[in-house]
Amino acid sequence: MTNHDLTLIAAQPDISVPSEALNLKHLIDGLWTASKSGKTFERRSPATGQLVSVAAMGGTEEVEAAVAAARAAFDGRRWSDLSGRDRAKILNRVADLIDANLDRIALTETMESGKPISQAEAEIEGAANIWRYAATLAWNVRGDSQNALGPDMLGLVLKEPVGVVSIITPWNFPFLIVSQKLPFALAAGCTAVVKPSELTSSTTVILGELLVEAGIPAGVVNIVLGFGDPVGATMTVHRDIDMVSFTGSTAVGKTIVAATSSGIKKVSLELGGKNPQVVFPDADLDQAADAIVFGIYFNAGECCNSGSRIIVHEDIAAELSERVVALSRKVPFGDPLNRKTKVGAIISTQHQAKIDRYVKEARSAGADILLGGEGLKIDGLNGQFYQPTVVTDVTADMTIANEEVFGPVLSIIKFKTFDEAITLANGSAYGLSAGVWSKDISTCLDFTRKVRAGTVWTNTWMDGYPELPFGGVKESGLGRELGPNGLEEFLETKTVQMRIGDTRQMWV
Ligand code: NAD
Ligand code: MN
Repeated sequence: MTNHDLTLIAAQPDISVPSEALNLKHLIDGLWTASKSGKTFERRSPATGQLVSVAAMGGTEEVEAAVAAARAAFDGRRWSDLSGRDRAKILNRVADLIDANLDRIALTETMESGKPISQAEAEIEGAANIWRYAATLAWNVRGDSQNALGPDMLGLVLKEPVGVVSIITPWNFPFLIVSQKLPFALAAGCTAVVKPSELTSSTTVILGELLVEAGIPAGVVNIVLGFGDPVGATMTVHRDIDMVSFTGSTAVGKTIVAATSSGIKKVSLELGGKNPQVVFPDADLDQAADAIVFGIYFNAGECCNSGSRIIVHEDIAAELSERVVALSRKVPFGDPLNRKTKVGAIISTQHQAKIDRYVKEARSAGADILLGGEGLKIDGLNGQFYQPTVVTDVTADMTIANEEVFGPVLSIIKFKTFDEAITLANGSAYGLSAGVWSKDISTCLDFTRKVRAGTVWTNTWMDGYPELPFGGVKESGLGRELGPNGLEEFLETKTVQMRIGDTRQMWV
């Protein structure tokens, strides 16, 4: 293993870590409960191997109980009958409690996910603001009317909560992603059963504690801990579930679409991406190189929005690649508990092996590894880390150009003409996000109109706002989170036709 003159942060924590592991239970009908089976599962820090949490392992019994509680809370109108203003009050209280507990949540997130502490803190602060934004939407559950049907009729379009929602989340942004779903479902008046990833249960449990403290009625939010099989799977087929909101892999997303088809449930999916950034010869190369490095190494590349596919004009390909490699060497990889660190550990040894397989496969397919390509040893830490890796001479047919690596591995592909760049950008089964780098606004707009993606960034990468919708096209998903759309996802439409006076014509 060579270190390629990388910037490495050896074990040197800025924060002391609690020595006791967290004991996690399910939240069912307002009570913290262990599993009937008595079974538990452990999570260790991917950076240090230290035991972080021991969680109750849910089974079908726990899902049944949680769904029954959510169903009863919904059917009893305990939450949906509150005014939007009263629901907003509770959501705002949750936001304030998240702020008040920021240090504890961020540290737990870092311990379980391996992400850097400074990044975790920013994510928790961002999550609190999403709760605040969703609270404003709770005031705005509004429909429409039709006043031109003639004097004998008034048409009303009412918006109502969808009902009981299953919320299933992944390990890469545990607290942020549950915060992109749950407050919007609650703003709409829905009740929920939430399942975090088995690798990162703790911060969702802390959120449950804050919800209870904020005064959410029992049964409105339930949390079941455990694995995709049987917990997640049961949450998608249960007949008392009205909607499934899922973030995770496209493979599991497809099984959820199949599982929900028997009951015709509403489905909202945020899946993977193989997001292209197209760099034209007139781009600001300093800015582009910096955003490319941010886009690929942020969250160790374990990011649906990872800018993993650079499509660069052949005239500037060599120069851009050189700049990206030079900057990659400067990014501090290492101890997640050190404030200087920008890239921490890889989530699991299995995932580390998968990342490495993609790189080795690209090499044998004829790509060139300009930098990295191996696991990384961080002094004083026994967890798994991966080198910043830059792969060039990638062609559109290679696996690495098409599949999500979900690691700090960048692929660089060359193009000659604008049309070829669009064909390459759209050549993926995914369509989550895309970027364009050019000083010519016409080039940016032409690209924006022709690329198939849910989000387009022009001369920037991975900015995000609660006010703006987020989601994908093609195999990247269905539906949108955040923005006004975030509320709309959890609303159903009821059409009302009100006859005015004694105006109905008899049929017989
Ligand atoms: P995953 O699909 O393996 O798991 C996601 C969640 O689904 C976990 O809670 C898991 O326990 C559960 N699950 C597994 N099998 C299930 C089943 N059959 N039925 C119901 N639930 C099941 O994903 P992951 O490994 O946790 O996360 C990585 C993947 O998530 C990547 O592919 C990434 O692109 C994607 N992701 C997408 C977004 C987005 O917003 N588009 C965000 C984050 C992650
Ligand atoms: Mn997985």
